[in-house]
Amino acid sequence: MTSVNLPVPARALAIGAHADDIEFGCGATLAKWAASGTHVTMCVCTDGSKGTWDDNADLAALIAKREEEQRDAAAILGAVDVVFLRYVDGELESGLQPRAAVCKVIRRTRPDVVLGHDPWQPYRIHPDHFHAGMLVTSGIVAARDPHFFPEQGVAPHRPGALLCFEPGRVDHVEHVDGFVERKIDALLAHRSQWRSTMAIDDDPDRQRAVFAAKLHAQARAEGLRAGLRAGESFARIDDL
Ligand SMILES: [Zn+2]
Repeated sequence: MTSVNLPVPARALAIGAHADDIEFGCGATLAKWAASGTHVTMCVCTDGSKGTWDDNADLAALIAKREEEQRDAAAILGAVDVVFLRYVDGELESGLQPRAAVCKVIRRTRPDVVLGHDPWQPYRIHPDHFHAGMLVTSGIVAARDPHFFPEQGVAPHRPGALLCFEPGRVDHVEHVDGFVERKIDALLAHRSQWRSTMAIDDDPDRQRAVFAAKLHAQARAEGLRAGLRAGESFARIDDL
């Protein structure tokens, strides 16, 4: 049974491994909620320093550029805040220290709904996506229980629901008709990723259109699952 549309949350926190992951996974859902008044926070775990095919790239400049792009994308979606945890791109681990960092973000932002990578999605090779997913689930467990990381001095917080994006199993769809353009615009704000992630390079006008058409087709396909015009699909966990 696939559920459709959570009640619009007062506060939502989306956690991704890299700048642009959140937009790919749930950008239209965040745009929809933000338009209805949800306080949306985005949290990016890594510094994005592997995100180029240019082997002579100035990595400090790349990191700064990607944070700027992420802030622009957040503004397009209507998110209020972006938190950068700045772990080294490609080297994210789901150990205690990063878990404490994610726990602190959850306790400080007090979201009703958390969104993050599905840590159980099979046959995924990028380790950061797996570890970011584990950090979301283990971060929620720590955030809700007072004896985890008491030195943080922040009150525990238990979110009401977790939506895992790019899910291994789909049991929830958000209806995002009218918000897919916003997702595409937010993704295009990640200009440094056009070539490596979005296949926009030597023929940008045409390739941007191809990229946009692909995202519209994906939204239609995900919506169809629940009889909707456009959707983003998730694995939903309420028992947190
Ligand atoms: Zn990623």
